Amino acid sequence: MHHSPYSSSCSAPTDAQVGVIGLGTMGSMALWHLAREGIEAIGWEQFRPGHNKGAFSGEARQFRATYLEPEVDPVMPHAVGAYRELEEESGTSLLRITGGLTIGQPSSETIRTLSTRMGQAGHPPRLLSSSETARRFPKHRLRGQEVAIWNEEAGMVRPEHAVVAALSAARSSGAQIVPYSAVTTVEAAGNRVAVSTADQTWYVEKVIITAGAWSWELLPNLVPDSYLGRLLVTWFPVRGRADFTEETFPPFLREVEGHRIYGFPSHWDGTVRIGFAGPRQRLRTPAEFDWLHEPASEIAEISRLVEQCFGDEVDPTPIRTSNFYDAYTPDGQPVLGPVDAQQRIIVGSGFSGRGFKMAPVIGRLLVELASGRRHSGHKAWDPLRFIR
Ligand SMILES: Cc1cc2nc3c(=O)[nH]c(=O)nc-3n(C[C@H](O)[C@H](O)[C@H](O)COP(=O)(O)OP(=O)(O)OC[C@H]3O[C@@H](n4cnc5c(N)ncnc54)[C@H](O)[C@@H]3O)c2cc1C
Repeated sequence: MHHSPYSSSCSAPTDAQVGVIGLGTMGSMALWHLAREGIEAIGWEQFRPGHNKGAFSGEARQFRATYLEPEVDPVMPHAVGAYRELEEESGTSLLRITGGLTIGQPSSETIRTLSTRMGQAGHPPRLLSSSETARRFPKHRLRGQEVAIWNEEAGMVRPEHAVVAALSAARSSGAQIVPYSAVTTVEAAGNRVAVSTADQTWYVEKVIITAGAWSWELLPNLVPDSYLGRLLVTWFPVRGRADFTEETFPPFLREVEGHRIYGFPSHWDGTVRIGFAGPRQRLRTPAEFDWLHEPASEIAEISRLVEQCFGDEVDPTPIRTSNFYDAYTPDGQPVLGPVDAQQRIIVGSGFSGRGFKMAPVIGRLLVELASGRRHSGHKAWDPLRFIR
């Protein structure tokens, strides 16, 4: 232990200046930003770094300029730049701006909302004619009056690669990573915070809690009516020529029969990843998690929708399925900011199924909060809003 110059008011010895609990999406990014700023940092992860049970698991994440998710508006203008910084530092390709499709009946909620919001933002939607859609994106079978909107700014992120890249960059800049260590308690004690696992206690000046779907276990009363969403991810084999590329099959969101489905080309040769957008089930506690649970009705439903939307191009029998879990708040907005009077415990959670596109920006915001350069996150993201 040592006496740190980080906070002048700190007199008790600490193990590091800032601790990060949970090294998934947001925690890995926070640790990277701490380390590159030269702040002594330590991070705990209950599983192995880069494990396959996170909200970052499942091969791909949509990167969309807001419009359909105004919740992410405050930070999206900085997201591409933040991803490029991590790509440069890690030498890993993470974000591909491919353009993206949104498809649905003109009367569908998705198309109406997107058109209205794009119009309001001064970027009227670029509607593709059905012949242009058929020529450029032949994998999609448009049905009835369905229309397609092309969004040049959309793309896809490789989520597992992003987490591992951030952790490697953090480690290279001096951060300490403690794997296979589930934090059980966090207690502000005087001018430091005690962070305990089953067999050890560490002391830090500030702590960032980015425990994803496990966050409410450490902060049980912060968000009444919070829930954990189960998201089903499914991979299907493609038929014929396996030419589902970024050009012929860029990331899409499609509303069909009141369901939103989305998909991407897959790095797993001969497959595409197509699945339901949004959670299929609400859970109360991580004790209910089951990564392999496969409700037959959900599989039957997604298979039926795949058959309708892609005809002979995709075999509607999934060959791989997984469940992943994210933390949801009642208003769909994250909780980001300090939760104690001393501003020593900073939380970044509740990303409600839409956080990945913002991750490196959130990591930076968390570090600004922990270092005292910023005292609150965005107003709508006030972590205490539900209990005031
Ligand atoms: C299937 C799916 C698809 C999605 N699609 C999109 C999309 O297309 N675009 C988009 O922008 N967003 C998308 N999202 C949302 C986005 O991925 C999440 O909002 C984001 O990953 C949440 O990050 P997090 O850091 O809060 O959680 P996580 O990434 O899960 O990180 C939490 C980490 O904390 C660790 N941990 C938990 N408790 C403890 C403890 N007590 N001690 C130590 N470690 C602990 C966990 O093991 C984990 O590693 C999707 C989410 C899912 C699940």
